[in-house]
Parts: sequence; structure tokens; C-alpha cells
Amino acid sequence: MPQITPKSTPIYQTSVFTFDDLNELELYFEQPGQRYMYSRYANPNSDELASEVHKLEGGAGAIVTSSGMSAILAAILAVCKAGDHVLCAEEIYGGSSALLTQELSRIGISVTYVPSADTYSFDALVQPNTRLFLAETMSNPLLLVFDLKRLSEQTAKHKIKLVIDNTFATPVLTKPLSLGADIVIHSVTKYLSGHSDVTAGVVICNTKEDLQRVQKVMLTYGLNLSPFESWLAARGLKTLRLRMKQHCSNAQTIAEFLASHEKVAQVWYPGLAAYPQHKLAYEQGNGMFGGMMSFRIKDDAEAVNRFMRGLEHIPFAPSLAGVSTSVSYPLGTSHRSLSKEQQQKIGITAGVIRLSVGIEEPEELLVDLERGLSKL
Ligand code: PLP
Repeated sequence: MPQITPKSTPIYQTSVFTFDDLNELELYFEQPGQRYMYSRYANPNSDELASEVHKLEGGAGAIVTSSGMSAILAAILAVCKAGDHVLCAEEIYGGSSALLTQELSRIGISVTYVPSADTYSFDALVQPNTRLFLAETMSNPLLLVFDLKRLSEQTAKHKIKLVIDNTFATPVLTKPLSLGADIVIHSVTKYLSGHSDVTAGVVICNTKEDLQRVQKVMLTYGLNLSPFESWLAARGLKTLRLRMKQHCSNAQTIAEFLASHEKVAQVWYPGLAAYPQHKLAYEQGNGMFGGMMSFRIKDDAEAVNRFMRGLEHIPFAPSLAGVSTSVSYPLGTSHRSLSKEQQQKIGITAGVIRLSVGIEEPEELLVDLERGLSKL
């Protein structure tokens, strides 16, 4: 057989690896990381993805998981046991709050939501059993930007771990570990893979101890990512930097268009000069503001329907961060599990539409958005 030296990593579509004899098996346990045994524990494709994300985020290493949700679960279970307490930013992806409120509470991990006004002054909410604080670099869906350095000074003061969901920002904009976070998670489903064809997650840790705990949780609970999905995500990741540039530049053009449109009541995009956190977003985001925004039209579901039906090229798809633009509706999808009071408090009303700006030519997007808005 000729020598095989592929430029791109092949897909190791196998659930298990073979050993010659018992001596080889013993070597596997004595010298960790030298060979593979079982794909739930580790696989060359998931290792490649983890290593590439680790290069971007820094820290001690990364573990990939089957979804963003399992990444959040692994990070929390790595740190917390029954009887522990978690602080969570009030403005957060609805799935994260559902995990904490509806599931982890059932196994004895309690949660307190930190109101946005108290983000940097939450002393009164810390309990003796508080183990971590969960927040997003830029919140889903209303793009509240968290000052991670400031937040990490507070969590360090209380000796609790800061866990940051960096899905919206990506390491191209912000590297939370360099700003004091202990653990970073991503829904790799979004920008890191980038093509709306993978469901995956990743946890990156600042210390070897946390990394080993996350790895233990991942393989014991079976939260691993398949070889094929790892391969697809690693492939998408190669163009992350390039994609982010275009996402950000398109989003800036669109946000300015929407902000000056008579049918649009409000736009949440940190790149707008008038945005309350514009300066923080600029400094923390490497001069970039991301590809996500939300805007509000008339607070009426029928108006939203007319807008969505009026779009010819931009689909309504309840996810984000793919190469093609899509709209979503937080009230009916990502934040559906919140109570009416919570939705109102955060500002997710009937007219709020989330826009994930893709990498198409911006003129095409402006024409389609105008088409939708003209139906109002
Ligand atoms: N974190 C954020 C900010 C998200 O938007 C999502 C999903 O939309 C998740 C985590 C969960 O990721 P996944 O759907 O890959 O489980």
C-alpha cells in the first residue's frame, strides 16, 4: 500500500480502537494521551476540534461535547454537586435558564438570577455554597455586553468560578479566559462551525484541574461529540476569522439601516454609536461588534408574521450564526420557557425580532429587509 499523507484529517468513523495484547492495553492506562481506546472517551476528530478551539481561546485545554447545552451542563457539573448554588445573569439564553431552573434544581443545585443592574455588585446574593457565576459575553437576544474583567474581579473576590458563554462573541472578538474567566463554553453549533449543519459544544478551561473534571463529566455522562460532527465543525472553524469579518461588517450596515427606518422602533446592536455599551463592546470586542442583533417593530405578532412572510430570501429559522442570514423570534423560540413576567422584565416583547446576519452581499440583505418592512 502506498504511503498515505492526507492534507486534511480523515474521519475516524469508529466507535472503538484495537489493541495487540494486554500489554498495549496497560500502556493506554499508564501513558494517557498516547493512543485511543473508545470514541466516547476520545477520538482523533474530537481531539482535533478541541485543540483548534484551544488555540483560539487559550487556557489549559478544551473538551468538545455533543451540543452547547451539554457543554454548559458539563461545565456546571464539573464544579457543582448537590447542595451547591449557582449565580446566573438574568439576561441569558432561555435554554441555559431552563437547564438551571427546571432540571439542575431537581438534583439539588439551586440558582439565583442576578439582575442586570447588580451585575458588578452581587455581594448580597452570594451564599456560602455558591460555586459559580454563569453569564454570556454578549447576551442572547438583546446584546447586553458584560464587562468580563470587572465581573471576574468580583467572582475572584468571592472565590467562585466565572463561566462565560462566548457563543455570540467568538474568540475572534473576545477571549474571556484572558480577562479572568475560569471556564468558557460555546455552542459550536453557531459561529465556530458556522454552516448550520452541526450540533456541537465545547468547554475550555483555564486550569488542568477544571479540564480533567470536565473531561470526566463528558465521558461518564456520555456527552461526547461524534467523529463526523467533530470533523465538520473543525472544517468550519478554519474560516471563522474570515467569516466573522464579513458577519460584522454586514451587521454594521444593516443595524444602521434599521436604526434609521421609520417602521423600526428600536435596534440592539453594540456597533451603533448611540448604543449604551458601545465603548465597552469596542474595547472588549477587538474593535468588532459581532453578527447578531435584535430589533423591535410594532408589538404585535401579526405584524411580525407580515414582516416574515414579506421576506423572500431571509428565512425564519430558530438558530443563529450560519453563513446565510436568518431571523428568529425570541418570544416564541429561544426564550419561550421564561415566564411572561421574566420576558417582560428583560424586554422580550411581541415585536422583538432577532437577526443573525450572514456573509452574503449586504445590498441583497438590505433589499430583502426593506421588502419585509414594507409589508408593515
Ligand atoms: N448558548 C447560547 C448563547 C445559545 O444561543 C445556544 C443555542 O441557541 C446555546 C448555548 C445552546 O446550544 P446548542 O443548541 O448547541 O445546544
